[in-house]
Amino acid sequence: MNSHNTADLLIIGGGVVGSFFAYHATASGKKVILLERNSAPVGATVRNFGQVVPSGLDETWQPYGLESLEIYHSIQSQFNISVRQQGSIYLASNDDELTLIHELHSINSKTHYRSELWSAAQCYERYPQLRTGYCVGGLFFPQEVSVNPRTMIHQLHKFLAASEHFESRFQTSVRELRTDRGGLVKAMTNSGEELFASRAIVCSGSEFGLLFPERFLASDLKAVKLQMLRLKPQPQSVLPGNILTGLSIRRYESFRQCPSWNAVKAREPRESLEKQWGVHILFKQEADGGIIVGDSHEYASVAEYDRLGFDLSTDINTFMIDEAAKIMNLHSWDVETSWAGIYCQTEHSSGVFTETIGDQIHVVTGIGGKGMTSSAGFTKHYLKRICDD
Ligand SMILES: Cc1cc2nc3c(=O)[nH]c(=O)nc-3n(C[C@H](O)[C@H](O)[C@H](O)COP(=O)(O)OP(=O)(O)OC[C@H]3O[C@@H](n4cnc5c(N)ncnc54)[C@H](O)[C@@H]3O)c2cc1C
Repeated sequence: MNSHNTADLLIIGGGVVGSFFAYHATASGKKVILLERNSAPVGATVRNFGQVVPSGLDETWQPYGLESLEIYHSIQSQFNISVRQQGSIYLASNDDELTLIHELHSINSKTHYRSELWSAAQCYERYPQLRTGYCVGGLFFPQEVSVNPRTMIHQLHKFLAASEHFESRFQTSVRELRTDRGGLVKAMTNSGEELFASRAIVCSGSEFGLLFPERFLASDLKAVKLQMLRLKPQPQSVLPGNILTGLSIRRYESFRQCPSWNAVKAREPRESLEKQWGVHILFKQEADGGIIVGDSHEYASVAEYDRLGFDLSTDINTFMIDEAAKIMNLHSWDVETSWAGIYCQTEHSSGVFTETIGDQIHVVTGIGGKGMTSSAGFTKHYLKRICDD
């Protein structure tokens, strides 16, 4: 054992969850080694919208989302990690959705989270591309931000690399992790290197096969496959901020607190393509003018993970474009690329999968569809909890 291969904390997985654990641990003076099996993360953390939307979270997670906003701003003020503050809008398309946004607005007023109810006219003024007849009102969250999902995590790694407490090893997969005789955690890498630390946090996302497969198999985790599209850059910047539409109002956790939620859901048709494919329509225009449009959701247990397959369904992509075109009148619908991303989620009420093996190995995954929004805040508190125990 030498100082080169010994740390206070080993973090396995360089996605958003692992990287924000690294951020908080190095900030508190801990020596961290972050291990990522790819040359750079290629998982859910780079395949998403980059919408940082605490407005969509339930009452337990919204505080983590709000703290994440502060953390993103704090890092951005020191180093460009692609944060843009242009707010988020939920566009209601009918009376039921309008009722829900009014109810969420009054819930937010009580919790002092700033939101603004906009008339249809205000929405059309801010988003001239909105199709006539779609929107009956909107709920706007001015504090919310977005990041570029393809670059944010790499910039965060560069930012972390400036800390003397941080070391990263890419193209390094951990294939065994256990408490060693000396009371330290020992990680064995694919190259046969041994690394030691007082603790390890496993943030392996939806990779269930490399470490602790039997625990993941016995867990309630579900893998979720999402399809996304990116439209070629439009001539102008036309869709500022995070744009969430009627189907998102009918899907996001925050709206479940609304008094009319159950009645609205009961009025929905039992069968529809959006239900079958778990589609809701969101837009995120990037700084270069390209627009990310998505997404769909297909689910499988850990045991049935392979059933999700590698295909991109043309039917789903066509349906998403058709639905998006009913909402926005864009200059061009030319698709530049499309992809699938997989995250995992737990049914547990905590909203995240955590398991401690022995006293020193902590598995943290299954943050679901809220990782970009809440990991920065959540990891700060979880790290404190495990270090104080
Ligand atoms: C299409 C899509 C859209 C989304 N949109 C949003 C959004 O707009 N806003 C939002 O808040 N969230 C969004 N999400 C959710 C968000 O992307 C995830 O919650 C988040 O990225 C999960 O991060 P993670 O670090 O847990 O997992 P990952 O990003 O999967 O990272 C895990 C990392 O661990 C590495 N790894 C695994 N095992 C090992 C090992 N043994 N050794 C070394 N390395 C290992 C992997 O290579 C990987 O890089 C979206 C997700 C998808 C798929």
